[in-house]
Amino acid sequence: KEVCLNRIWQKPEEAKISVFDRGFMLGDSLYEVIPFYEGRVFALEEHLSRLKYCLKEISLDFDVEMLIPYIEDAVRRSDYASNDAAVYLQVSRGAAPRSHFFPEKSEPIFLLYSFPVNLRGFENKHWKLLISEDIRWHRCDIKTTSYLANTMLNDKSYKLGLDETLLVKEGIITEGSHSSAFFVQDEIIYTHPEGHQILSGITRKIVLDLCRNLGLELREEAFPFSEIAYADEVFLTGTTTQVMAISEIQFQDNILFQSSEPGPITRKIQEAFIQRTRNLQV
Ligand code: PLP
Repeated sequence: KEVCLNRIWQKPEEAKISVFDRGFMLGDSLYEVIPFYEGRVFALEEHLSRLKYCLKEISLDFDVEMLIPYIEDAVRRSDYASNDAAVYLQVSRGAAPRSHFFPEKSEPIFLLYSFPVNLRGFENKHWKLLISEDIRWHRCDIKTTSYLANTMLNDKSYKLGLDETLLVKEGIITEGSHSSAFFVQDEIIYTHPEGHQILSGITRKIVLDLCRNLGLELREEAFPFSEIAYADEVFLTGTTTQVMAISEIQFQDNILFQSSEPGPITRKIQEAFIQRTRNLQV
């Protein structure tokens, strides 16, 4: 499959970036993953507006709108156009002599490509989680490719045969290493408020909207680590994760939370999510 590097579709093995690219050298770049359900893009505006926000936060001048035809092209050009897929999109500040300050002149570069992803059947799966200290920086709202901390954290659960790592900062759950976290207790849904401590997940936003439509009680309040054992339901959200029920949460050698099947609130949200993404209703 071809990739698009700076407007030119080419074979991945022929696509070249400079060794002085700031994304490569310093992690000075941003990314998005945009889902396509049966060939239809989902929440494109939300993804592009988050990218715009992140570009502004890192003082990078880049025209986000020009990406739209390339994003649509990415899926059209693939032979899985009528199946589920996603587009990976990355914008780097570009090549410049290495410096810690942002260079006055650099040509941003963008890379995008589509890949097949199975977005069906998530409601029949469940994940087991590991709890770990949130060792990330103080601007988790910026969707940078500098995901070394996230990958170190995710690798801990992977090595244990678990599915994702849930992060604790100062006694509260922030989010997962690549997902947003939700807790249900006494029929109230809790999720960490937006701010510098979490990524403003697009799926999180969609789920908040679905909860309001469904008349579910929702609080954008951090859930304490000490309450995990007393949660009724836990689920994670993300673009490819969608709405994933959690069956177990481990901390060191203890199991803090266990649930043999998705709870009724998780189920309701999953159903509404399927309807929304498959263009049925809600
Ligand atoms: N939180 C983190 C740290 C992430 O990396 C991601 C996705 O990659 C998410 C949350 C979920 O965000 P979204 O729903 O926009 O995919």
